[in-house]
Order: sequence, then structure tokens, then C-alpha cells
Amino acid sequence: MVVGHGVDHSFSHHEDLPDARGRFGRFGGRYVPEGLMAALIELDAAYEQARADSGFSTELAGLLRTRVGRPTLLHQVPRFAARLGVPGVKVYLKREDTAHTGSHKINNALGQGLLAKRMGKRRIVAETGAGQHGVAVATVCAMLELACTIYMGAGDMERQRHNVVRMRLLGAEVRAVESGTRRLKEAISESVRDWVAHVDTTHYLFGTAAGPAPYPRIVRDFQTIIGVEARAQIVAEEGRLPDIVLACVGGGSNAVGTFHPFVGDAGIRLVGVEAAGYGLGTGAHAASLSAGSPGEMDGSFSYLLQDDDGQISVTHSVAAGLDYPGAGPELSYLKETGRVQIAAATDATALRGVQALGHTEGIIAALESAHAVGHLLDLAAQGELPAGSVVLLCLSGRGDKDLDVAAQRLGLD
Ligand SMILES: *Cc1c(COP(=O)(O)O)cnc(C)c1O
Repeated sequence: MVVGHGVDHSFSHHEDLPDARGRFGRFGGRYVPEGLMAALIELDAAYEQARADSGFSTELAGLLRTRVGRPTLLHQVPRFAARLGVPGVKVYLKREDTAHTGSHKINNALGQGLLAKRMGKRRIVAETGAGQHGVAVATVCAMLELACTIYMGAGDMERQRHNVVRMRLLGAEVRAVESGTRRLKEAISESVRDWVAHVDTTHYLFGTAAGPAPYPRIVRDFQTIIGVEARAQIVAEEGRLPDIVLACVGGGSNAVGTFHPFVGDAGIRLVGVEAAGYGLGTGAHAASLSAGSPGEMDGSFSYLLQDDDGQISVTHSVAAGLDYPGAGPELSYLKETGRVQIAAATDATALRGVQALGHTEGIIAALESAHAVGHLLDLAAQGELPAGSVVLLCLSGRGDKDLDVAAQRLGLD
């Protein structure tokens, strides 16, 4: 139990969050225009019904096994662990990079795809930044016979041409968003606009554990399969729970999904690693929990990067999937209560993480996941990793998508 400020922060009832208003403590909620409220309430009710229906969970579990490749592997990386230079440390990787389409994002896309079908919706809209979420959604739509429209900032489309082609090969319609910064922010606005206009036929498949209620909870629940599997697997291998659990943080979905089953075990150190970009002091980063403040964005109250006038900041990370100026309400709550420690790793640290894991274990991590890998190297170097620690690290995705960036930043051409 963590106690501070005279408030009882016991996490034995963490399972009960969010509360009936969709709040995690003071975070979360629904800050949306009236036109959106009815759609969110309909989604909330449909999700509550689905959760109570064993037929839904059985169908989802079957598809996760046959079409996603779950359970994903959990195994030790002994040569990488030796490089940490701390006696007796064991490192286990949870290999979400081996899931179909190469990251954890499909867990949520598949869950919400099935939910949409259950609601009688025949069409999905979604936003995508780097394109990874869009690819997962397009994949699920093909599998489940759903029409698929993906909104993507025109600037992001130029940078992520491969994922645009992937989505189109999967039968999705990719619509370029030319307004504003031509990035994720505008793509989210366009998706919401489309959803409100076609709500009878269309589900908005949001990609991370943020946004208005009930999305943070729905996405958390669908990603919790990561932590549930990892917990059983590590106990089977090691005969005990880990001492420390690490995951990278963009919007927060792989982190919260990994952490959730461990939140009630007060002795386990949970560490979320954000993108420190060129360094927290430079302003060019995406570390909303480390360096931001609470405010409203994308329909929810949570930590975000904003200036003194409340304008959302421009972010930078070498990892496109971490380049988001907010973190979801559950992680905001877990940070503020002290249950989750928030760290930040620079681009350079992440690039060192990719190289270390590649050289020692033959695994090319996504640059997002590499922030957690690099931070573990830092913890060991700083003497903050006790001898004999058992470490669990969520490897959220594979690095094939990052080859151009890695080649450029590391001079490998
Ligand atoms: C999108 C992405 C992330 C960041 O998203 P979260 O919602 O914070 O998990 C992390 N890793 C990979 C591989 C991604 O594709």
C-alpha cells in the first residue's frame, strides 16, 4: 500500500476504476460536445453488455489465439541481462512484437472490432499517426468484414508511406487530412466528425488508453491480456512475481495493459518510460507525465503538454508512436498517486536500447519499446537496479517499421 498526503491510496480496489462517471480519481471523464455524448453513452452500454457476455469473451479469446498468435512469448534474454552488469539480474521480455501486425495494437483493434459488430455497426473509422494503429484496424476490418476508413494527417502520410500502402492493400480507404499541422491531432478531429455524422452505421475505433470515457477503460481492458499472460508465464518460469515491470508510454495502452494485473501487488515497482526526445530541457520531447500538467485534451482530463495559455505543445520523439502530447487518465492517476514511477528516455537512449537488444539477442525492437530497454540500461548504470532483480519488460512492437530512421540516426547506410 502506498500512503501519501493523508489519502489512502490502497490499490486493492483498483479493479473498480474507473468509477461510474468514467473517472480515475480526478482524471478522465467526458469533455465532449452534446452531439458526441449520445454515441459515447451507447458505446458504454454496449461494452457493459459485452463484458457480461461469456460468448463475447470466448469469441475474442478464440480469435486472439488463432489470428493474432496469443499467448505471445515470454522468455529470458540472458546475454542482454549480462550486459546490465548487475549480479543475478534476470530479464524477461513479453514479446508483443510477435503479435500479428507487429505490435500490441491489434489486441485493442480486434476487441473493438468485435464490439462494433455486436452493436450492429458495419463500418469503422479510425485515426492514425504513424500508421501502426491504422494497419491493425485495417487488418481487423478485413477479418471481420467491416468497411474501414482511416484518417491520417497528410504530413504523416508522406513520412509513413509504407503504412499507407499496407492499409490500402488491406482494403481500407485512407483519407488525407490537410488541415492545421497535417498530423495526428487533425486526424482525430476528422474521425470524430465522421463518427458523429454516421453514428448509426459507424464505430470510432480509438487507438490508445485515452480520450473520453469509456475509451480509456475499453482499451485498458483489451490490452490487459498482456499483463494477465505475462503474470502467469513468469510465475510458471520463475516461481514468483517480478520485482520490476517496465513499459514505454505513448498514450499509455501497452503500459496500462501490462501494469494492470500488478497494480494491487504493492511490492512490485511499475515503471512507465516516456519519450524525452532531445532531452526534457530542450522542449523537444513527448514526456507529458514527466514534464506536463493536467488539462483537457481529446475529450478527457489528464496530463498533457501545454503552454501557459493552454495551447497543446508540439512534440518530438524518434519513435512516431510516442509522439503524442498526452497520456491517458489511468496512467495520470497512477502517476499522481505514486503507484507508477514515470521515467523518460531520450532518443539517444532508445537508439542504444535497440542496438543492445539487437547485438545480444537478435531482436530488433520498435523504437517505442526501445525506450523501456534503454531506460533499463540506464537504471543498471546508475546503480538503481538491485542485484538479483527479476525484471519484466513489455516489448510492445518490432522495429521493421523504423529501419529508415535507425539508418539515418545511427549512420548505418
Ligand atoms: C503505438 C505504439 C506505442 C505507444 O502507444 P501506447 O498506447 O502508449 O501503448 C508503443 N509501442 C508500439 C510498438 C506502438 O506501435
